[in-house]
Amino acid sequence: MPERLDAFVARAAAAYYARGGAFGRAGDFTTAPEMTQVFGECLGLWAAVTWQAMGAPPRVVLAELGPGRGTLMADALRAAREAMPAFAAAAEVHLVETSPALRASQRARVPEAVWHARVEGVPDGPLILLANEFLDALPVRQIVRRGGLWRERFVEDGRFVELPTDLDPGAAPEGEVREIGEAREAVAALLARRVAARVGAALLLDYGPAETAPGDTLQAVRAHAPADPLAEPGSADLTAHVDFAALARAARAEGAAVFGPLPQGLFLARLGLHARSAALARAVPGRAATLMSAAHRLTAPEGMGRLFKALCLCHPALPAPPGFEDWFED
Ligand code: SAH
Repeated sequence: MPERLDAFVARAAAAYYARGGAFGRAGDFTTAPEMTQVFGECLGLWAAVTWQAMGAPPRVVLAELGPGRGTLMADALRAAREAMPAFAAAAEVHLVETSPALRASQRARVPEAVWHARVEGVPDGPLILLANEFLDALPVRQIVRRGGLWRERFVEDGRFVELPTDLDPGAAPEGEVREIGEAREAVAALLARRVAARVGAALLLDYGPAETAPGDTLQAVRAHAPADPLAEPGSADLTAHVDFAALARAARAEGAAVFGPLPQGLFLARLGLHARSAALARAVPGRAATLMSAAHRLTAPEGMGRLFKALCLCHPALPAPPGFEDWFED
């Protein structure tokens, strides 16, 4: 039976993350928090400053979606405790994770957290939410233009088959592929409703173009090398570019203010990633080379500085969050 691409990707992702051990040098891919502790520390300080801008509520939900090994949240909390203990004391940590193996890694680093299988499970109230490389793991649908009509990609026996579809975004050149991330836009809409209803801010870091672009961006990575995305589900990490313009539209429709997308390199530089990396390198000379090369890779345009972006969904009355001070909506 052909399986619609998003259903295939959802099944593959669940099988893949259930195994849990894919992160870091020995695994399939490396993410920003696994490269340097300074990434999570900067986001912890971002959260602390945002909490102050929210009026320093005595209780705040500090949530993360898809926390991987829990490294980002552990680094963020350590920095927050040091720099702004009142924020750390107000924060109630909630993690959204489906994989039992990854929940166990997260529990080892962030024992005080409360876990949820779905974003809907995060409790109401003042909210600060972080998500790094979460949305790129949520499934996309793909449609392709054939003979003046759209057809949709299904997967059967490790290959694409094209079947009729209910999606119709209008005319396009023959053979053009479009990706539709309904599950991602639903998360953006839900977060937007939450931050607009109570006070809150959601910071989404991921990779993809600033403007919606056509094309097939589904990719599989195994042991740091490209793999066949349609091969045995669960054998490789499957992701696709995040459509930031679509997320921003979905969030605005729910009444949130939207800042960004800003290139990650610019965002992290503004949060002080380089200065903090240099200070830590001076304090721990044995780690200087690793710290400086990670800071470079995260911010350089040819590394993760340009393709990766930061998008922030906020309560409309909040001032621009740290890093987005010069952002003006058209
Ligand atoms: N943020 C981490 C991990 C990114 S990998 C880092 O930067 O290192 C994607 C994460 O999202 C994993 O923790 C994975 O288990 C989780 N995940 C993927 N799909 C999910 C879903 N549908 N619901 C909840 N968590 C999901």
